[in-house]
Amino acid sequence: MIPVIDVDLEAIDRNHRAVREAVGVPVMPIVKASGYGHGALPVARTVEAGGAGWIGVADGSEGVALRAAGLRTRLLCWLHSPTTTWDSLIAAELDLGVSSLEQLALIGSAAEHKRRGAHASTVNVHLKLDTGLGRGGAAPLEWRTLLAQARDYERRGRIRVAGIMSHLSGTSPADDAEQAAEFARGCELAAELGLDPEIRHLAASGAALRSPGTRFDLVRLGIALYGLEPDAGIGAGLGLRPALRLRGPIQRLGDRWAVGVGSGDGLPPLPAGHALPPLVDSAGEQWRVDEVTPVHLIVSPLGEPPAIAPRPADPDAESGADPARELIVIGRPDDGGATADDWAAAAGTINYEITTRLSGRIARRYEPGAPSDEARVVAWPPIEDPGRAVTSPVREAVVDLELFARRLARLRRRADTVGADRDQLAYAIDVSSDAYGHGLAELLPFLRDSALPLIVRTRNDLEMLRRRDADARLVPDAPTGTRAIYGLDPEQPLRATLSLRSELVHVKRVPAGQRASYGYEWTASEPTVLGLVPLGYADALPRSAFGRASVTVGGCPVPIVGRVAMDQVVVDLGGLEAWPGMRVQVWGNEPGERSLGEWAQWTGWSPESLCASIGERVDRVYIGRKTSGFGQ
Ligand SMILES: *Cc1c(COP(=O)(O)O)cnc(C)c1O
Repeated sequence: MIPVIDVDLEAIDRNHRAVREAVGVPVMPIVKASGYGHGALPVARTVEAGGAGWIGVADGSEGVALRAAGLRTRLLCWLHSPTTTWDSLIAAELDLGVSSLEQLALIGSAAEHKRRGAHASTVNVHLKLDTGLGRGGAAPLEWRTLLAQARDYERRGRIRVAGIMSHLSGTSPADDAEQAAEFARGCELAAELGLDPEIRHLAASGAALRSPGTRFDLVRLGIALYGLEPDAGIGAGLGLRPALRLRGPIQRLGDRWAVGVGSGDGLPPLPAGHALPPLVDSAGEQWRVDEVTPVHLIVSPLGEPPAIAPRPADPDAESGADPARELIVIGRPDDGGATADDWAAAAGTINYEITTRLSGRIARRYEPGAPSDEARVVAWPPIEDPGRAVTSPVREAVVDLELFARRLARLRRRADTVGADRDQLAYAIDVSSDAYGHGLAELLPFLRDSALPLIVRTRNDLEMLRRRDADARLVPDAPTGTRAIYGLDPEQPLRATLSLRSELVHVKRVPAGQRASYGYEWTASEPTVLGLVPLGYADALPRSAFGRASVTVGGCPVPIVGRVAMDQVVVDLGGLEAWPGMRVQVWGNEPGERSLGEWAQWTGWSPESLCASIGERVDRVYIGRKTSGFGQ
């Protein structure tokens, strides 16, 4: 038995219909970031079958994948790299959110090219206006130019302005109303300039349910589709049903009990003295959560401890409760234990982060039944895109193979000097959690050449390794030194073999008083320049980084300002000369760069869990050498 995420597609279908009925305008279900952890494709198929005319995602690559899987619905994407291969997005017939004149010009020229080619359909764009959120979207001073330029392209048959869009801060109903008024002004200006879009869309789940005046022609529906409320009580009367449940077998871990999911799988670390309600097991017994480690959830029975099953003959089998019990880690309300909302409250975050961060390494099981194999999405091994097209912003986990191989060689030399005792844990390498997010596929040849023993800490990881024809010992409580090869031994932290980088996708000058991101937690005290970095809590940056963390751009530290969103953060570039496409180093090893250790301090997520929980939209990039140098 291994941990599993159950996804109730019928609940998603019902939530979709319930909200559509309640808001009285069409809805665009949002399935970005693997459908908030539920699986983009099964959710998209469900809402398409439920009559959705539109589906939204952040990245072009997410839209391309849905199109390739056979979705026929209109698909909108809005988060683009400055180096996007627009032809690929146009070929997939995606609607494109456009935030700047540069993007518009590039799309216009790609569309012109296409028009002269075989396929003559026009390219649909949605002009994105910043009405106060300070993230993507054109600043008000640029609106007229952007709208007029778009109208010009439209007249020349290059594009069709299918939509005008913006996004709300959700700070308060009054703030949302103010943004709605700004948005209406932008739409009037568009009409004045001769544009006649099919849809004007502003509201996401929160405002759609709370403020009818923000609904315009369509609402974009994210969190409520999955049955969770964007703010407590906001969906009252709709009968929203949470779709997701995470459960896993209860095992022995030394003299404690544990389930094989941890912060490296996306569960948030909990503060000491947390108020998470007890979890419930399959026998109806309650368990308290003691600790969330990178690979385990450590729990204690509140009632009589269960009997311990006799140790099985298989040396790799874990021992667990007798009879076997399964713990519901994140439950639906009917399950009686802790829900995604409870986890969010206990960890000081929001329900969005709880489901969205859950690792793609955890198997998803879809209810009702799986109509086909495709509906059972197990994101291991990760799907590799063979093409060279740039269809999403740059998000890269860079693995330093040189450093890895050097440490491996040193360990092997030490093992050789002790000879026969080489199988000891002191020379073992922990490859749990896809080698702590490094990507086992690329490391395995090096590890095989080294002939050093491999270990994993959970059955899930053991099975994944075996699927790759590799073997390891299952040692759930191995010493942390087995992670030293990555620089991830908390006892002896070294340079991390994995660093994280991205790019600026949008840069804009803003006046004093400009606010940034959800909840308007930050206000510019003087005129400044804001940059948009396409990395959010779905990808790597925990929300707890808020107010503390910084990154480096062009070698200079710049603070993240405002809340961390699912797909992006805003940085205050101040007086720095910066352009879209400029590299952003989140953490790294070069002088002046922020370190993984600092990120761990700022966020409360351990270095190993930060690396292991890096999301599926982040590419692994390998630098250094191609071979291990063991010469076998
Ligand atoms: C994520 C997102 C949504 C969905 O927001 P919810 O609060 O989950 O409904 C809508 N619009 C944009 C632009 C988004 O990025």
